[in-house]
Amino acid sequence: MNAVPPPGEEILCVLRDLLPAGAALHEPEFAGKEWDYVKDCLDTGWVSTAGKYVETFEDMLSDFTGAGHAVACVNGTAALHACFMLAGIEAGDEVILPALTFVGTANAAAGMGAVPHFADAEERTLGLDPEKLGAHLTAISEITTDGLRNKETGRKIVACVPIHTFGHPADLDPLVEICRKFKLTLIEDAAESLGTYYKKRHTGNHGRLAALSFNGNKTVTTGGGGAILTNDPELATRARHLTTTAKVAHKWEYRHDQVGFNYRLPNINAALGCAQMEQLPRFLEQKRRLAETYANAFADVDGVRFFTEPDFAKSNYWLNVLLLDAEAAGLRDDILVLSNDNGFMTRPAWTPLHRLPMFADFPRMDLSVTEDLYSRIINIPSSPRIMAGLS
Ligand SMILES: *Cc1c(COP(=O)(O)O)cnc(C)c1O
Repeated sequence: MNAVPPPGEEILCVLRDLLPAGAALHEPEFAGKEWDYVKDCLDTGWVSTAGKYVETFEDMLSDFTGAGHAVACVNGTAALHACFMLAGIEAGDEVILPALTFVGTANAAAGMGAVPHFADAEERTLGLDPEKLGAHLTAISEITTDGLRNKETGRKIVACVPIHTFGHPADLDPLVEICRKFKLTLIEDAAESLGTYYKKRHTGNHGRLAALSFNGNKTVTTGGGGAILTNDPELATRARHLTTTAKVAHKWEYRHDQVGFNYRLPNINAALGCAQMEQLPRFLEQKRRLAETYANAFADVDGVRFFTEPDFAKSNYWLNVLLLDAEAAGLRDDILVLSNDNGFMTRPAWTPLHRLPMFADFPRMDLSVTEDLYSRIINIPSSPRIMAGLS
């Protein structure tokens, strides 16, 4: 292959210097008590959703995040769906969410008949741009006694769902303010941000509800898994009920009092989660050191910037981000080919959701920053264990 013009070859050199051959984007690591805890589930027969690890895992999550309540779910998308139902979102309601997010955020809304309304990102955080969102809502909506109405579509706009992109928190204070002003329910998609703090407070505590994910590539994994966080005890009770088929407690009768879902996390998965949570401080510390190492190494490479946490944040650096300069944006795909062909797993950001066929006709604001970021972001290997091999 011909040499890729700057900063292509230079990026590859840095990756070669720092990474083991074959480095993946984010690998799970089971170096703690995973085997013991899972064996305990098998030995005792407690493999399903009733089992002591589920409760222990939930307690560990609420201790770590400071959220009053954690309800473990089968995956992050299910947790988001449950959050949306608990927030009272109904079919036909519009929900503000970033165009720059994983498809699961929008699927959870669209799957229940709600309408994603795509908002733009800002380069400072890679998350929702509060100022642009405020201006957009002022232009297209009116506040009525019945909540916020989109003057262009006639539908209600009921909620706003920021995500903490690649582990960096969105600027939550102004978003909280916008939600208050426009009567929107704030729900955080905190799927990527376990271990991430916004102004010293853990993400997932800034709205009414939040969803976490423990998919295999997240900072902590349960195989598949997720959780609902809330500081409202009544919502937590309803979350437990909704995610256990809305079953009413009874010695033997099968009584259910609403349409519910089998969304609780099985004990086997929670057992993995407990062992993972015990290692979370180390994972975070190693991921931070890796980010610092990258930041230093890429400081000398022209044409690209290693994305660092916003000044109000402490990020978990879930997936490390290289941001190409505008002039180098056209090289993104060449750099992806070069790095992957050389055994280093790199990826572009998600295709902005308004470009996907099923979401193409949904309402949206100007998304020029999202488009621009998409053309310049490259995710690079981010597993905590990479640091174990570096001195
Ligand atoms: C991972 C992720 C989800 C979905 O979580 P799953 O556990 O894979 O269902 C949702 N939103 C964002 C932003 C994610 O990164």
